[in-house]
Order: sequence, then structure tokens, then C-alpha cells
Amino acid sequence: MNFDMLKQAAKWANTAGNHELYTKILEAQLMASELLEENQKLKGELQKRDELDRQRNAIELRENFYFPKNEVAPPYCTRCWDVEKKLVTCHSSGVIEGFERAVCPNCKLEKYLY
Ligand SMILES: [Zn+2]
Repeated sequence: MNFDMLKQAAKWANTAGNHELYTKILEAQLMASELLEENQKLKGELQKRDELDRQRNAIELRENFYFPKNEVAPPYCTRCWDVEKKLVTCHSSGVIEGFERAVCPNCKLEKYLY
């Protein structure tokens, strides 16, 4: 967004010696800048929310882990997603008594995979 029109109006008001109008135009310019900044911030937040929605819709909860839908891949840590909204792939931590365990490299949560 550009404020050339407001800048030109402020210039004309100043040239005409209308100090009150000049001040009001500068105030309007400041308000427009603040609104633009707020708008950009909200757009960023909306993009983050959309990305979280997209990620959430791409996973499903099965057997105490999140797994990618329609794809064979390692599980994601439930704690990291539920608490931090991070998709962290769990790693195998070995087989204990015939059951595979997985550990989250971020929060170190470890549990049986199946
Ligand atoms: Zn984790």
C-alpha cells in the first residue's frame, strides 16, 4: 500500500497554510500505517493457523502416536504436537521383549510403538 495520495494532500495543505488540515492528514497517514502493520501481522497469524490446520488434517491418531494419513512413515510424537504444535518424527529405540519402542528426539518421550 502506498500513501502517495495522503502525502500529496499533506503537501497541498501545508503549501496552502492550512495547519489544521495538514495535522489531520498526518494523523490519517499514521493511522493508515498502523492499520497496514496490524493487517500484515494478522495475515501472518492466519497463514500460521492455516498451516497448522493443514498439518493436523494430514495426520491421524493411532496406537498412541500420530501417523501421516495415506502414507507409510514413522510416527510423530503426540506430546510435541499436542503441546507445542510440532511434528517431530519418533525414532526407533529398539525392541524390548518383542515389542518395538519409539522415542521422540525432542521431548525424549518413549513408548511402545505397537
Ligand atoms: Zn516429543
